Amino acid sequence: MSTPHWLPNRTSQEACDAALRNFERSYGYSATGVWAAPGRVNLIGEHVDYAGGICLPFALEQSTYVAISPRDDDTIRIESWLPSHSEPAKAELRAGNLGPGEISGWLGYALGPIWALREAGLLSPSARGYDVAIVSDVPLGSGLSSSAAIECAVASAVVELEKGDGALADDATRTAIIQAAIRAENEVVGASTGGLDQNISLQGKSGFALAIDFSTGQSYHVPCDLESHDLAILVIDSNAPHSLADGQYASRRGIIDAVTHYCQASTLRDIGDDTAIYAAAQQWATSTGADSDCTNRRVRHVVTEISRTLDAIESLKRADFQAFGCAMYASHKSLKEDYEVTVSQLDLIVDTAKDYGAIGARMTGGGFGGSAIALVPRAEVHPMAQAISRSFAQAEFAPPAFLQATPSPGARRER
Ligand code: ADP
Ligand code: MG
Repeated sequence: MSTPHWLPNRTSQEACDAALRNFERSYGYSATGVWAAPGRVNLIGEHVDYAGGICLPFALEQSTYVAISPRDDDTIRIESWLPSHSEPAKAELRAGNLGPGEISGWLGYALGPIWALREAGLLSPSARGYDVAIVSDVPLGSGLSSSAAIECAVASAVVELEKGDGALADDATRTAIIQAAIRAENEVVGASTGGLDQNISLQGKSGFALAIDFSTGQSYHVPCDLESHDLAILVIDSNAPHSLADGQYASRRGIIDAVTHYCQASTLRDIGDDTAIYAAAQQWATSTGADSDCTNRRVRHVVTEISRTLDAIESLKRADFQAFGCAMYASHKSLKEDYEVTVSQLDLIVDTAKDYGAIGARMTGGGFGGSAIALVPRAEVHPMAQAISRSFAQAEFAPPAFLQATPSPGARRER
């Protein structure tokens, strides 16, 4: 009843083989190559990207694999085999019609980046066709960024097909791919994304997390060698339903944006020091009649999360995982009490993890469902998953799903 359910984790070789097999079966010839891009977890720094804050994700081993060949005409044939679906999602369309309003649903994520790359001048404006077969080990809609994985895998593939092998090694090209994927998700899909997911999907590095500072646009790798410290990050997909997410996200972000706008600053962090930010928030609440306690708590989450994340990055550099774990618990408390974006399932995961001796635990991603992470000794990964499964069964929640996360490489050619 409460046996933990582990998400499938193929080796990259197995996933590549599956993508190539599917390609050949569907299109009757061999693909030119396979490109892959990973999902991610964010270790700390939540709901601060749009406030000019700093976050610390790492790329997962779990990736989306794109077997692809260019065509001589302007037809795109694309299919995606989703885990637990017996049939692939499929489409056939004209390569010239991939912009806003021309494609929708999953095709916006998969093909919108091709439109954005053309708009940015990174691909030639002539609309080349492709045959594409996709498989993925990143669970969809679990807060682990399957969306950036598919965007960045397709974008990396078409850029290297056009520019030649090794194009991905160029920093400027990777930055352009990140921007194209962000633009596609914002403008073609119509989903608001701050860019965390696309940055890490392109810039992941084995054994490292990536600090992304949204006030400067700069990012740098931070060592995150869990293995040699006998530690692991357990990811727990809460499987909680996501129904309220859109309006709730907008209302949180709306307060932060409104205070920023009120001060004519470019981001909340730009307003000044912490005292100046709190004072500005109170002035804004008074002038608009907004609830001042609620405003203060929302702003307090953002302000404290940014300073917690800066401290946590220093802890990680010193390999001080105890201090890092304390920051994870504090982050969750702030997201629960001040930002109010957790749900009972996420709180239960963190409480259970704490009771069973996790070094740290917190929700990860936007909240209102999605996933949580726990920092645990390697030997505790399976007992911890059992304990969490048991508490879900006792609370009569739908069973969670688990995976063990390892800091892994970003987008790359696999074959
Ligand atoms: P998350 O990024 O956290 O997984 P999102 O809601 O941002 O959740 O993105 C999920 C959406 O991305 C899916 O509903 C689907 O439209 C698209 N998507 C992601 N991966 C794939 C895939 N492998 N095949 C087809 N569509 C995908
Ligand atoms: Mg997403």
